[in-house]
Amino acid sequence: MMVRTRFAPSPTGHLHVGGLRTALYAYLIAKQNGGKFLLRIEDTDQKRFVEGSIENIINSLKWAGLDVDEGVQLNADGKVIQVGDKGPYIQSQRLGIYKKYSKQLLDDGHAYHCFCTAERLEDLKNYQQANKLPTGYDKQCRSLDQGEAQNRVEAGEVHVLRLKMPIAGETTFVDLIRGEVTFKNELIDDQVIIKADGFPTYHFAVVVDDHFMEITNVIRGDEWLSSTPKHLQIYKYFNWEAPQMTHLPLLLNPDKSKLSKRQGDVAVEDYINKGYLPEAMINFVAFLGWNPGTEQEIFSLEELVKEFKMEKINKSGAVFNLEKLDWYNQQYLKNLKNEELVEVCLPWLVKAGLVTGNEDKQWLAAALELEKERVKTLAELPEALKFLFVIPEYDGQILIWKKGSVDEVKKVLPALAEFMDTISVQDWNKDKMQILVGGWTTKNEFSNGSVLWPLRVSLSGQQNSPGPFEIAEVLGKDKSIKRIKLAIGKLS
Ligand code: GLU
Repeated sequence: MMVRTRFAPSPTGHLHVGGLRTALYAYLIAKQNGGKFLLRIEDTDQKRFVEGSIENIINSLKWAGLDVDEGVQLNADGKVIQVGDKGPYIQSQRLGIYKKYSKQLLDDGHAYHCFCTAERLEDLKNYQQANKLPTGYDKQCRSLDQGEAQNRVEAGEVHVLRLKMPIAGETTFVDLIRGEVTFKNELIDDQVIIKADGFPTYHFAVVVDDHFMEITNVIRGDEWLSSTPKHLQIYKYFNWEAPQMTHLPLLLNPDKSKLSKRQGDVAVEDYINKGYLPEAMINFVAFLGWNPGTEQEIFSLEELVKEFKMEKINKSGAVFNLEKLDWYNQQYLKNLKNEELVEVCLPWLVKAGLVTGNEDKQWLAAALELEKERVKTLAELPEALKFLFVIPEYDGQILIWKKGSVDEVKKVLPALAEFMDTISVQDWNKDKMQILVGGWTTKNEFSNGSVLWPLRVSLSGQQNSPGPFEIAEVLGKDKSIKRIKLAIGKLS
């Protein structure tokens, strides 16, 4: 049997990092089994629909490299399209299907009409809470005569359709992460399956769709674990085979509370805008609750496809640790080849107005090389590299090395400028300069720090920056000499 997994978000906003993890795991399971990864849009709650969120979800998945084989996609013009022969893949376009199957449940005596008003349900809940009783529907309409219920429906009375959960017994199933899970049926609500507006609830649509879309593995957040008995009951009533169920542990803030916006960004888009590399994000997200059981931490998507095992996921919640994400991003930035580095960084520099994009690529690569191990994200690059493009403003005091004096700098810098001016353009590279300036320093009996510190500050305008010869090489001879002379001016 072909393995088919799906990611089934509700279009209620941006793709959440937790959603990205669910999608990634579903993608990995499909791919490692030569199967298919589907994207279905679960928009049964029309009130919560947010314009643009389908596009946002698809674009975020695409950015992360999770290509969808079947279901909802965007065409070249950015329009939502659907690909595959088991559609539609947007639930609001499947109402006829839900109607047909809910009617079957009703006809078979597995569902019933419920006419309870919102006020009655509210009163019931208040009463249950006040008396410390379990909350839930009291099944009042379950005992209504079918014929009478039908008459009321035909007379136009507002109603919903509820599932008849067995009153006794237990529902047991195997969750790939938690193992065997058992729920008492009496504690499970008679779930609404069709709402008063004719739309299905998630609980009904998810079963019908997973069945007809031939989903073999349901992978979703922990919050749905307690709903699974309702879903399994629907499979049972239809005599359909249920898919393998997997519920992923919660994502937590570092203080172990549920991951929330209040403690940081939760939308994938925020991380895109902050300049995290998709490969780093995927690697980081893969490790939220999973690890390979070895020392290896860097995994490409292809390696994850090979190595990922759902059984190795921790049962407890996974802490969303941004420092780790930064670490991943730095690892990936460091390992980019020159051309890749230029390709991913250029848009950020262009946007910041530092370059036009027509600059020599080799020069750009050398410039980026200066800071690529010093920044955490691409968004930090323009600020970090600005000193190469704009003559830096700084206080002349910072030219003085901690073990030196103003007089010493006044002596060293002019002599150094004069000496460096004698270095030919051919020799103007970091290795050669290091040797030449090193020799000059020794000959003049200066200490290394008394030369390198003010040289570096005059080139970068910063107390912390890449090494002086690296910067000098990227700036070129003329600009470097000019900056040293400007620094001398700051001392008088
Ligand atoms: N629409 C549900 C959600 O966004 C999907 C749950 C599931 O995968 O079954 O969480």
